[in-house]
Amino acid sequence: MKVVKFGGSSVASADQIKKITKIITSDEERRVIVVSAPGKRFSEDVKVTDLLIQLGESLQAGIDHQEAYRQIISRFGGIVSDLGIDSSVMETVKNKIDQSVELIRSNDSTGMDSLKSCGEDGSALIISAYLSHLGYKGAYVNPKEAGILVRDQPGGALVLDESFERLYQLREREETLVIPGFFGFTPDEKLVTFSRGGSDITGSIVAAGVKADLYENFTDVDSVFCVNPMLVDNPRPMTTLTYREMRELSYAGFSVFHDEALIPAFKEKIPVCIKNTNNPSAPGTMIVAELPEREDHVVGIASDEGFLNLYVSKYLMNREIGFGRRLLQILEDEGVSFEHAPSGIDDMSVIIRDHHLPKDKEQVVVRRIKDELQVDMVLIERDMAMIMIVGEGMNQTVGIASSATSAFHKAGVNIEMINQGSSEVSMMFGVKSEGLASAVQSLYKTFFE
Ligand code: ASP
Repeated sequence: MKVVKFGGSSVASADQIKKITKIITSDEERRVIVVSAPGKRFSEDVKVTDLLIQLGESLQAGIDHQEAYRQIISRFGGIVSDLGIDSSVMETVKNKIDQSVELIRSNDSTGMDSLKSCGEDGSALIISAYLSHLGYKGAYVNPKEAGILVRDQPGGALVLDESFERLYQLREREETLVIPGFFGFTPDEKLVTFSRGGSDITGSIVAAGVKADLYENFTDVDSVFCVNPMLVDNPRPMTTLTYREMRELSYAGFSVFHDEALIPAFKEKIPVCIKNTNNPSAPGTMIVAELPEREDHVVGIASDEGFLNLYVSKYLMNREIGFGRRLLQILEDEGVSFEHAPSGIDDMSVIIRDHHLPKDKEQVVVRRIKDELQVDMVLIERDMAMIMIVGEGMNQTVGIASSATSAFHKAGVNIEMINQGSSEVSMMFGVKSEGLASAVQSLYKTFFE
């Protein structure tokens, strides 16, 4: 049995839905389908989820929301009529949107997540109806009925373990099941969405729950490339990689796959294949638990901008018990999550995603660090980028760090931070954002050309 997930661009229009229907019906093992909300049809287009968020925020702010509402209805209406399916489906889709709008109007705390979920819900209703229209046995399955139980964290749901046993029951069903991605329900039946891009998470949860033989994730690229194709022309595709490698790569800039989505599949050791809806015969990229040793120790280069370095120094910090905890406690108190915390003898850097520490919070955090920790210096450096080289076995190989640092040298980019940490599959470098592209290009030359 295969669980197949289709991303936003794969369900963006009636033509795309026709393509995915061919993919689904060409293999009878493809029995459980998870879908995203309609995404972009062309580069300037707007994703339905973004329109829904725009609508919700306008309603909350009490400003005009007619245009966003009109665009959402017209996106779904266009798909339904182009597919030639019964217009009653459109009524169901519209009713769900209207009910969520009412929830927001009445200040119900579930309103926003409920509205955000209408994108994937609409896709699933339409695709299941289209399968039936073509004579296949298609069934829409709501995440509540499927048994996807989550913790109550609006916009950031986390799956509860009970879900997996419930999902296993889906194996009994005979139809092709179409499940909307991106949301689940709390044990007291509140709808909660995952973080953005979270349909990948649903797909992985469902694959783990039904103990699928394969989780296929259809997107709009032939395979995962070893480096961001916006930075390097025609980069090498990756045919196979391990969960751990993908986890590291998707953390820093590999937006092909949600970084939280691997865990459920990984726990059940279900292989994941990333494929292209627009070129389904291409082999794609396989992600598996283990691989025999490969010749290339570095399999990918990930990079992402938008970080800052909170640098703190204090003479004899190494002798002060609890310093690190108290520093991180201040961040916790202020609701700031951190990414890495490399430290020296008398100093410590805390790497934070830029948007997690807006200017007003920055002032509070800096003042508290000065007052409560009596440090010699506290500095915030914004415009940082992280570059990560990734590969199993890399750390047992002599000379990788040396090749990497000489690549930075050749590019004339200063390394602000190096973190090999305890992860055995990656090495991370912090640089100023302006040096990101040339450093990545130089690393690509070193390891892949
Ligand atoms: N539609 C949601 C988003 O745009 C989830 C997804 O597509 O995976 O974030």
